[in-house]
Amino acid sequence: MINLRTSLYIVAFAMFIYGLMGLTGPRTAVRGNLIAAAGMVVAIVATLLTPHIGDWPLIILGIGLGVLVGIPAARQVKMTAMPQMVALFNGVGGGAVALISWAEFRHSGGFAGDAAYVIVASLFATIIGALSFWGSLVAFGKLQEIVPGRPISAGRLQQPLNALLLLGAIGCAIAIGAGDHHELLIIGVLIFASVLGLVVVLPIGGADMPVVVSLLNACTGLSAAATGLALNNTAMIVAGMIVGASGSILTDQMAKAMNRSIVSIVAGGFGGQVVAVATGDSVDRTVRATSASDVAIQMAYANRVIVVPGYGMAVAQAQHVVRDLAKLLEDKGVEVTYAIHPVAGRMPGHMNVLLAEADVPYDQLKDMDDINDEFARTDVALVVGANDVTNPAARNDPSSPIHGMPILDVDHAKTVIVLKRSMNTGFAGIENQLYFDPKTSMLFGDAKTMVGKVIEELKAV
Ligand code: NDP
Repeated sequence: MINLRTSLYIVAFAMFIYGLMGLTGPRTAVRGNLIAAAGMVVAIVATLLTPHIGDWPLIILGIGLGVLVGIPAARQVKMTAMPQMVALFNGVGGGAVALISWAEFRHSGGFAGDAAYVIVASLFATIIGALSFWGSLVAFGKLQEIVPGRPISAGRLQQPLNALLLLGAIGCAIAIGAGDHHELLIIGVLIFASVLGLVVVLPIGGADMPVVVSLLNACTGLSAAATGLALNNTAMIVAGMIVGASGSILTDQMAKAMNRSIVSIVAGGFGGQVVAVATGDSVDRTVRATSASDVAIQMAYANRVIVVPGYGMAVAQAQHVVRDLAKLLEDKGVEVTYAIHPVAGRMPGHMNVLLAEADVPYDQLKDMDDINDEFARTDVALVVGANDVTNPAARNDPSSPIHGMPILDVDHAKTVIVLKRSMNTGFAGIENQLYFDPKTSMLFGDAKTMVGKVIEELKAV
């Protein structure tokens, strides 16, 4: 039986890793996801083969409840609500880890007689698991707009409060490690870590939540791995380490693509508010507005068009009309590609997922590094609801809050059309120099409505 279980675990790990590899590209992502999910089923079956696993009716009830809640929730969630869905799923993982540690504490009479590494791993899992659960719930609340998205902090008392709560949790944990088996101590660890999770995430602005969710996801993975160590469960160790490592890499890549440190994101105070920027006297402040018919004519006579999608396309759900527009242009002999910035939208891969959903051929989606040199030989760059990821201030203005963030070199195109509703700022809350460039025309309106109008005009050209 042990050999069978070990073999099944090895199969499950191979499927996790193979599935994860599939997630590196849009073409293989769905298959990768299914393979990893099947791997998880194999791991669960292997775990259930453990002798004296416990109360079967309770286990079946748990699995049944999970399936009943999980499947409809995943089916009904909109693409734009995916970050909060991930926050919830991640949160319950952390909560489960914290509860397992508590159950083990009771089961073993306060970890009495356990090896030191088991006690340390269990207490680490309790702290990080509880922190991730409550932190993820706040992240969910902010993304869902149940909790105000603005930073809610205790001002100058914030850091001392965080330190006090962390010391409280560690203090209780040390007392347990030193041999005190009183249950109030583990409850103390749970309470201090839970409140810490709440007060660490509350001061962070709502728009930074996707990065926070990714960070908490990495923490949950590490706490699950620690629980695996304590319970001597290889599946939990491997799956937890995979989640921890991939979550850390994702967080790091998101931070790099936004040119911000993880520390500055956790410190909050960026996004969702207007930041004053030095624009310089020499900048021409005139903006040129255009119409759907002018845009249609401009694009119909272009050789090459690059579509630059952003958060506004996601909000307007304009991906299907954008694809229709591209098809129409291709029928007229225009070459169309899409420029994908790594942090366009509000979650990693946001644009890839939307455009894949609209059946845009994968080979038309070009990563930033592959397409940036192409803008110079492009007749029209059509920016659909993207803002920050096209702002030349990131390259030209050292005083800009986004200076150093890699951007799409849209301003190198021969002409630029920007489709958005107003002169409002994007996520970073700063003005976009691109809009004042003499070769830029602004097509004001909702992305879906305006692309629809351009299509109508294009049909008549
Ligand atoms: P931005 O948030 O910079 O800008 C989006 C623009 O879309 C707005 O300026 C808005 O202008 C416009 N818009 C909104 N609704 C509509 C609509 N219905 N029709 C047309 N336009 C609309 O988006 P980007 O994609 O350029 O940049 C993403 C930003 O998010 C970056 O700053 C990135 O760092 C940040 N971020 C990304 C994460 C990720 O993982 N992808 C995670 C966290 C943050 P208007 O109101 O005038 O229409």
